Amino acid sequence: MNKPKNSAYDIIIIGGGMVGASLACALAEQVDKKIAVIEAHAFESDSQPSFDDRVLAFNYGARRIWEAMGLWSQLAEVAEPIKSIHVSDRGHFGATRIHADEEHVPALGYVVDNRSSGKILMQRIEQLAHIDWLCPASLKSLQQDECSVQIEIEHQGNIQSLSCRLLIAADGAQSKTRQLCGLQSLHQDYGQAAIITNVETEYPHQGVAYERFTDSGPLAFLPMTKKRSSVVWTVDVHAMDQILELDNDAFTEALQQRFGYRLGRIIKTGRRHAYPLVYRETEQLVKGRVAMIGNAAHSLHPVSGQGYNLALRDVAEMAELIASHDDPGHPLLLAEYHAKRYQDMRRVYRLTDSLVKIFSNRSFTLGHARASALIMLDMMPALRHLLARQSMGLLGRMNKMMRGLPL
Ligand SMILES: Cc1cc2nc3c(=O)[nH]c(=O)nc-3n(C[C@H](O)[C@H](O)[C@H](O)COP(=O)(O)OP(=O)(O)OC[C@H]3O[C@@H](n4cnc5c(N)ncnc54)[C@H](O)[C@@H]3O)c2cc1C
Repeated sequence: MNKPKNSAYDIIIIGGGMVGASLACALAEQVDKKIAVIEAHAFESDSQPSFDDRVLAFNYGARRIWEAMGLWSQLAEVAEPIKSIHVSDRGHFGATRIHADEEHVPALGYVVDNRSSGKILMQRIEQLAHIDWLCPASLKSLQQDECSVQIEIEHQGNIQSLSCRLLIAADGAQSKTRQLCGLQSLHQDYGQAAIITNVETEYPHQGVAYERFTDSGPLAFLPMTKKRSSVVWTVDVHAMDQILELDNDAFTEALQQRFGYRLGRIIKTGRRHAYPLVYRETEQLVKGRVAMIGNAAHSLHPVSGQGYNLALRDVAEMAELIASHDDPGHPLLLAEYHAKRYQDMRRVYRLTDSLVKIFSNRSFTLGHARASALIMLDMMPALRHLLARQSMGLLGRMNKMMRGLPL
C-alpha cells in the first residue's frame, strides 16, 4: 500500500479489481507516466469483491494479452487448460463439441481462480515505482475541465485531492465514477442468479468444459487444477436462497440430477456463493477525460464466460492508445478508444444475450428447436469454427497486445 508521493498524476484508475489491476500491469512499461490506482478494499480482505471465490474461464485471446503483459508463464502455473467444450441440453438429444485441436490452438481457454490471478497482478504492481496503489481509498467527488480531472478520495480516513489528465473508471458494475460523470447505463434484471462452487468428481474431467442447459437455467462445469471442477449454476433468483440453504447432501443430489453422470458421482462440493445477474451496458464509454472499462462499461451474464475476456480487450486497446500519445486523456484519443471498442462490445452483448434467451427458455417447442440447433451445429464445422473463434476472442481487429506482443 503506497502513500501518494504527489497529488498530480497522468493517469488515475478508480478500482483495482481484476480489470483495474490488469490495466495497471498493462501500463508497466509506461514509466514516464505517473499513475495511481484507487482501490476501496485490501486485496486479501473478505470484503474484496473482485478477487473473491470466483473461478474464471480465460479465453485464448486473454492468454495472449497476459503474454503481452509478461505474466502468462506465472498464470499458466495455476491455470487448467480447456481442451474441449461439450454443449448439451438436459432432457433432449443433441450435443455439440468444440476441440482445441480442430481450432489449432493448444487450449480453447484456461480456468483460473480469481485469487491466484489477483496475486500475480498485485505482485507485479508492487514492483512498479511509477504506480501508487492507494488502498483502502474510495472516490468521493469528481470535476473536470479541458485539461484535467480533479477528484477527492477518502484515503485511510482522510479526504485528499488529486488530479490527472486521464481518469479510468474500473470500479465495477455500480461504478461511482460513471454516476459522478452523469453517464447513463442501460440495465436489465435477468431474474436469475449464478450459484458457484467447486466439486470433486468420481472421474477426471480430462480438460473438458461442460455447458449444459437445464430447466432451471444454464449449468457449467469447468475443469480446474487438482482434478476439481468449478460449477456455475444459473437458477431463478427466487430459488437462490433455498438452494444456498440446502445441506451438502441435498445440494449435491440436486446438482447431480441436473448435470447427470458424465463425470461419475459428485464426491465433494465446496463453499457456495451466489451472484444475482443483471445486464448492464454503458453506451457512452467516454465523458471528457474520463473513460469506462470492464464492468463499469459492461456487465454480462456469465453464460458465455466473456465478461473479463471482453474487459481485457478494453485494457489492451486503452494501454496501446496511452502508449502512443503524449496526453493520455486527449479527447481525440478517447474518441478513438470508443470507436475501436464499440463493435466488439456489441458483438459480445448480442451473443451473450441470445444465449441467455435461447437457453433459459422452458418452452417445449423451443426445447426441440434448441436440440436441432445443437445437432446441426455438430454437423457444421464452419459454423462451429466461427463460434469458437468468437468465444476465444479471436474475431475482429487485433491490436498488438491482442496478438500477444508487448506494447
Ligand atoms: C458467477 C460469475 C462467473 C463469471 N465467469 C466469468 C468467466 O468465466 N470468464 C470471464 O471472462 N468473465 C466471467 N465473469 C465476469 C467477471 O467476473 C467480471 O467481468 C470481472 O470481475 C469484472 O471486473 P472489474 O474489475 O471490472 O469489476 P469488479 O470485479 O466489480 O471490481 C471493481 C473494483 O473496484 C473497486 N471499487 C468499487 N467502487 C469503488 C470506489 N468508489 N472507489 C474505489 N474503488 C472502488 C472494488 O473494490 C473492486 O475491487 C463472471 C462473473 C460472475 C458473476
